[in-house]
Order: sequence, then structure tokens, then C-alpha cells
Amino acid sequence: MIKDPWFTIQKIDNHTFAISEYGHWEKVHSFLLLGEEKAILIDTGLGIDSIKRITNQITDLPIEVITTHVHTDHIGSHAEFDTIYVHEGDKDWLVNGIKGLSIDVIRKNISRDITLPTPKTFNPDTYVPFQGEPAGIIKDGDVIDMGSRKLMIYHTPGHSPGHVCIFDITNGYLFTGDLLYDQTPIYAFYPSTNPTDLVHSLERISNISNVKIVFGSHNTLGLDPIILNEVKRAVKILREQDLVKFGTGTHRFSGFSIQF
Ligand SMILES: [Zn+2]
Ligand SMILES: [Zn+2]
Repeated sequence: MIKDPWFTIQKIDNHTFAISEYGHWEKVHSFLLLGEEKAILIDTGLGIDSIKRITNQITDLPIEVITTHVHTDHIGSHAEFDTIYVHEGDKDWLVNGIKGLSIDVIRKNISRDITLPTPKTFNPDTYVPFQGEPAGIIKDGDVIDMGSRKLMIYHTPGHSPGHVCIFDITNGYLFTGDLLYDQTPIYAFYPSTNPTDLVHSLERISNISNVKIVFGSHNTLGLDPIILNEVKRAVKILREQDLVKFGTGTHRFSGFSIQF
């Protein structure tokens, strides 16, 4: 397996790899999915180091990038790839940046609590998030045919307007981005988030059948799909207790929590 000073590469199966950044407090995962004639990279990480150095070692296939959503920690190495897809709801952020999010805050978050040596090319004082035009737009219900595997796009707004989850129908892998992960709260308390949409999106993914593993974009790599039952329960409780709105705090469930 590939050894790298910054990225941790884990083989999920012979055609699926997690590229993780455990040296940063956010513990971000990007995922490389190999098909017959192309590969899909789900997000490009923090941009502290070059993710293409890793993907080049794994595959010669042309790579298309699918963006789960346009937050700095998921688009870090977007500039290294020519073919980027994003949902319409986050496109403006990709092209023009996120309004109201200052560069000082971005630089503070990218540079704090780092536990591994960073490359010389990384300078938090000059770090700027990727901005650029996507090659195309992905939408709810799109099926990406990779020959040996098929991916289904679910538009799952809430954490961001154009957030998507990606379901690998062939293998039962559900990539949930920042809609669902364990350990740290799922964020839905920024002005740009939408608690009602987030809960609706959680309800939708909890109803996907034949999920074998859930891959969130942060923290533990690979979650038992039993978490989707707890998501169903959480959706019910949050609605019944009228908690689906800003300012109601952090709500803890078995295996995950949500902050409004
Ligand atoms: Zn995010
Ligand atoms: Zn994130």
C-alpha cells in the first residue's frame, strides 16, 4: 500500500480507496472510485497537500471530480483536476467563493490543530480556497455509469444548498459527505445551512435500500448501515419535539449528533 507523509490511503476494495487527512483536526476523507474507463474522485480534501500525487499512484484512468459540497475542506485540490462536477445549489460558491466567510476564518481553521508535518508548499498565511468553473452540473437522480459500477446522485441540501450524497448502487456504498458522519456534530447552525432541508435529506438517505457501508466525509472511516435506523428515529424525534430550527442546540443520538 502507498505510504505518504500527509495522506493515509486505505483500500476499501480493489477498486475503491479512501484518501484521508488524519493529521488535521477535521479528519477529512476523499474517495477514489475506479471504473472501467474512468475514475471518480469524491472531493479533493483540504488542499494542504496535493491529492493528485496520491491518485496518480493509484490509477492511470482519467479522473472526474464530484463535489459533495463547496466547503473549503472538500475542494482543496480541485485546481489539480480539469473535470469537476458540482450541484447547481453550490455552483456560485465554487465560482465566486462563499459570501460572508472571511479568509481569516478559513486560514485559522485550515492551520489549527495539525498533528503531522505539512509540506513546504503549504502556507496558511497565503492559503486561498479553490475558485473556478465546473465542467458540468450534477442533479438529483443522475446515474453515473462507470462500466463496472453505477453511482446514483442524491441531492441532499441542508448542510449546504447544493450538498449531494453519492450511492454506489453496485457495491452498496453510501457516501454521505457532511450530511452524516460520527463523533463530531453535523453542522446545521450557519446562516447558509437549513435545518428543515437537512432533516428532510437525512430522511431520504435513511430510506435508501441495500446500503452495506456508510462513508461520511469526516472522522471514522466506514459506518455500519445500522446508523440509518437511528437516523430514522432521529428524524422522528426532532420533528415531534419541534427541534428542527436554528438555536435548539446539539441533539445527540446513538452514533451521531446534529447541531442546529
Ligand atoms: Zn461542510
Ligand atoms: Zn466537511
